[in-house]
Amino acid sequence: MLRETGAVPENQGVNTMSRVYLAGMAAALITALTIPAAQAQQPTPPAPPQRPQIETKKVDGTDNVYIFRNGNHQAMFIVTNDGVIATDPVAYGRPTGGQQYVDEIKKVTDKPIKYLIYSHHHFDHIAGGKAFKDAGATVIAHTRAKERLTQLKDPHTVIPDETVDKTRNITLGGTTLELHYLGLNHSDSTLVMRLPKEKIVFIVDTIPVGSVPGRGFIDIYPLETEEFIKQVLAMDWERMIPGHPGQPDGRLGTKQDAQNILTLMQEASAEIKKQAQEGKCWDAVEKEFKLPNYANWPGYENGLPFIARRYCALWGRGT
Ligand SMILES: [Zn+2]
Repeated sequence: MLRETGAVPENQGVNTMSRVYLAGMAAALITALTIPAAQAQQPTPPAPPQRPQIETKKVDGTDNVYIFRNGNHQAMFIVTNDGVIATDPVAYGRPTGGQQYVDEIKKVTDKPIKYLIYSHHHFDHIAGGKAFKDAGATVIAHTRAKERLTQLKDPHTVIPDETVDKTRNITLGGTTLELHYLGLNHSDSTLVMRLPKEKIVFIVDTIPVGSVPGRGFIDIYPLETEEFIKQVLAMDWERMIPGHPGQPDGRLGTKQDAQNILTLMQEASAEIKKQAQEGKCWDAVEKEFKLPNYANWPGYENGLPFIARRYCALWGRGT
């Protein structure tokens, strides 16, 4: 589409493309197609260093807060003089994962594991607790997590010993860990865990760090999640440990990351609300929905269909 005349916006200056340039491009293409195979072979660049499947790291600037990572899942544990407070076994589909986590804790301390706290009831985060139970830990979760787990009887997931409805403080060896239920969000059983001294929160799945939400959107409570994130933003903390390593490089989250997810959800919700009320749910929205502001974020292409379907369910169906 070469134009001869007329004003052309700056970013469409294709009419300046000369015949000489086009001829040059054609010549380069022919050359590329006729290079002998041997000449085209280049030494393969070294592969990026592989992350180990399992890794335990102390959180910078803390005396006793650790992150245990198994593949793409991670959990926080805190070592105190009187024992260990652990969270999420993260061993779904990994029969030895729970024991490996316990072994990693034993490399850091010989203190007993006193507590295992579930972030919410999803198996990818909490399967594998038997090794903790065998080590003497008391398993704690939100009341609805216990109800759900009792109903489902997953063979790999330990039923909680104790439950929390709204808030509870776990105090052990001079460390306090607050457990807060802030309403419906990614699940109906999420506990926000806060270390007031370290100003760290551990929040799983509801607020991805540096990436577009994906599969986790299947059964999210979209409107309630916006309120949940506002409550999280109002709490006193500086760093967030997510249940999946933050992007890039496994970084921790900030309040800006939480605000970004809130903004993304508000934008997606407003857009699909409009389309839903024009009768475009589901097919047209699933084909056409885009979030151009986030197109360069990790997880964008994979996340879009989940976001489109969930908001179509909300605004096009009432669910
Ligand atoms: Zn989840």
